[in-house]
Amino acid sequence: MTNDGVYAYSAVLMGSPILLKLFDDNPTLARQVFQLIKQQENLFTVNRAASEVMSINQAAGLHPVVVSDAVFALISVAHAVSLLPNSAFNFTIGPIVKRWKIGFQGREVPAKTDIAALLPRTDPHQVILNPADRSVFLQQQGMEIDLGAIAKGYIADRVQAFLHQQGVQQALINLGGNVQTLGCPPHEAEGWGIGLKKPFGGDDELLGVLRVQGKSVVTSGIYERYFELDGHCWHHIFDPKTGYPLDNELLSVTVISDRSIDGDIYTTLLYGMGMENGLAYLADQPDIDAVFVTRDRQIICSAPRYFHFQQIDPAWQLRY
Ligand code: AMP
Ligand code: MG
Repeated sequence: MTNDGVYAYSAVLMGSPILLKLFDDNPTLARQVFQLIKQQENLFTVNRAASEVMSINQAAGLHPVVVSDAVFALISVAHAVSLLPNSAFNFTIGPIVKRWKIGFQGREVPAKTDIAALLPRTDPHQVILNPADRSVFLQQQGMEIDLGAIAKGYIADRVQAFLHQQGVQQALINLGGNVQTLGCPPHEAEGWGIGLKKPFGGDDELLGVLRVQGKSVVTSGIYERYFELDGHCWHHIFDPKTGYPLDNELLSVTVISDRSIDGDIYTTLLYGMGMENGLAYLADQPDIDAVFVTRDRQIICSAPRYFHFQQIDPAWQLRY
């Protein structure tokens, strides 16, 4: 226990350090939470030989695969978001992700012809969902679903629901990039403090702290997984139109929302829109707030309704 009454439990799951904060010493509950995360990860992962999503991918071009409720639900959401007009989100980006291998020893830019050959296998229209038998069919051989952009958000919401059901009123789960909270910590009237990382900085280097209560905070940043070559940063958030990393003024996008799955979806969508269009888009979205961090060292907050921001690093310019 720390002196503010917090009991922190940690584990490494989904390739990330996972942190759970409670205000009771309850290692049994913590174990159940980590178990839930592991069980969900086992359904969605594409980084191992076997999972429900891998079964769908392995049957691409061959036959539909019947999946569990959770996988069908998440794929249905990912499918709908991928079909939005001009969406930067595409859950059939798998062949591109696998080819670049960013974060998995990938250190070279693939040949243009390779990318061009893979792009036709990333068409979300060629995914057939059948709610009647909960089956998923990828129509073309070589297609691969990748839920990496939203699985953590979905799981963070599952953890929040589980804790709520267990009668927990104040807690925080950090899945590495996805933070979901319940209530407000007892001795912090301003809410949970969630660090906004300094892009490409050390582990403890923060631009500032976001304060929230009962909200999710999700960040997608190009500094999370990348390699550098010839002065260029090749990162893990791809433009589905080109098959190359999205290249704009943004270093990171943070979304504050009720549900972490929405935060996870919107970070990718806003990343694709860029700062100007993203801010304009947010003006019509009453349920989410966002913070953009740009290459020219600005921190730009949308009208902050659900958080407030405490700046730490004075070298960056804060704008609203
Ligand atoms: P996140 O950390 O939530 O921003 O998700 C990044 C992960 O989503 C990547 O590591 C890929 O697995 C996957 N991904 C990359 N680009 C896209 C995209 N345009 N649409 C959907 N998923 C993507
Ligand atoms: Mg995401």
